[in-house]
Amino acid sequence: MPVSLNAPLPNNDALREKLFSAKRVLFIGAHPDDIEFYCAGLVYLLRMQGVEVTFAIATRGGKGYIRPARTLLEAMRTRDQLHSAEILGSVDVIFHNYPDKALPDHIQPFASDIKALISDLKPDIIFSWDPDFIYNPHPDHQAAADAVRLACEDCQVCYYGTREPNLWIGFGSDILRIKLRSIRAHRTETPWFYWRLIKNPLMERLVGEGAKVGEDYAEILRIPECW
Ligand SMILES: [Zn+2]
Repeated sequence: MPVSLNAPLPNNDALREKLFSAKRVLFIGAHPDDIEFYCAGLVYLLRMQGVEVTFAIATRGGKGYIRPARTLLEAMRTRDQLHSAEILGSVDVIFHNYPDKALPDHIQPFASDIKALISDLKPDIIFSWDPDFIYNPHPDHQAAADAVRLACEDCQVCYYGTREPNLWIGFGSDILRIKLRSIRAHRTETPWFYWRLIKNPLMERLVGEGAKVGEDYAEILRIPECW
């Protein structure tokens, strides 16, 4: 049954409380912008509660939507990711510098990086692409999810970018504005002509999921049963 943070249902109060009582949360993505598309609202809400948030990003996105030289695009996307992290309330960002669109060749070393990062940061909660029900099946997204699975125990990880949600994070237009700003901060990936194409489907999804829990908008997550 769906749960909204703004209208919690029985049985889900504990889940919600656990999520927002974390001291530190680690989000792991394949590219700059992965996390913002699926859970920028959640990230901002966590930061407003004083939760420390770190993004660990496998690549700098050197093969993005626009195609300048790889090193130039990596620099632009790094800058954009850091800008987005500021919009979301000063999120720490760690880049892992694996080659974009080749992450499936680097699953094992990325898993080792994640293990080292976890022992260093000691996050209470880790968020990853959903390895079993991935929403956007780009090979790098699946590889990032597989690396997290190798590095972590199942019950340590919650999932964004999922087709099988069991937790809804509801919010209103104030948080929506911040989410959209954080996405548009990734300027090379959201030029106006592309943004025009992707904004409506994104909004339809946020509105549709929000309606399921009586909210204006909602992001969706999958929380493991053993969590
Ligand atoms: Zn991506």
